[in-house]
Amino acid sequence: MIGALMGKRGPAYEGCLNPFSLVGGLLDLLLPRHCVVSGRPLGPDETSCVAPEILRQAVLTGQDYCSRCGARQGEGVGVVERCSRCEEFKEGFSCSEISAVGDYEGVLRELCIALKFHGEHQVAHVLAPYMIQQVFDRGFARRVDAVVAMPLHALRQWKRGYNQAELIASPLAKAIEKPLWLHTLKRHRGTQKQSELSAAQRKANVDGAFEIRARRASSIEGKTLLLVDDVMTTGATIKEAALTLKRGGAKAVFAAVVARSIVGADS
Ligand SMILES: [Zn+2]
Repeated sequence: MIGALMGKRGPAYEGCLNPFSLVGGLLDLLLPRHCVVSGRPLGPDETSCVAPEILRQAVLTGQDYCSRCGARQGEGVGVVERCSRCEEFKEGFSCSEISAVGDYEGVLRELCIALKFHGEHQVAHVLAPYMIQQVFDRGFARRVDAVVAMPLHALRQWKRGYNQAELIASPLAKAIEKPLWLHTLKRHRGTQKQSELSAAQRKANVDGAFEIRARRASSIEGKTLLLVDDVMTTGATIKEAALTLKRGGAKAVFAAVVARSIVGADS
């Protein structure tokens, strides 16, 4: 499926001159594109922003994972319901299950950084197919009613100009044919960057950080929601957001992230 999704190209213009590819080719000559991870110049036929040889290096979760926190497990371990990486969260994440495309390291880490901090929006379209695959494989797609992107605080979103979670959630919602509920959760205070804090501080930092926007309050009741974010470290943010949705009447919350961070190893 990933191949099918990622292999999508525009229509073939056999036997005639395609004005769009002509313009695209000229632009490539004038403004050569480069792989956002390796910096290798990309050829005119390479439509992705990531070189294929780099993308192949991404270490994916596959069939060995913790259903509770999404962490990748050793090859052949299979599915576990609790792992050493989520042991700290004895009370859970307020989510039925969490999926992660892979660990926050190597190529996936570089892609998340490019998307979040370097304004490389097109990375979302590289990552989304992997996320979609997971959401189908794990059975979330048929169990959820709507997709909710993890919000940024308004000031942070204004500074960044976009919300990377929304960029991933949008193609995901489309692929699973579920509505994307924008403006559902509000991050009503500017929390300190989670990456700058210890595990205990992360929990305190997000405590009470979310509220449900009034316009969405009546539609949440009884719904099963899929919360989407780019990176999960301890899970404190996901837990707080899921808890807020459930307090607002959601029946259940699943979560899907691109990368499950190894605590202490994130940037
Ligand atoms: Zn776990």
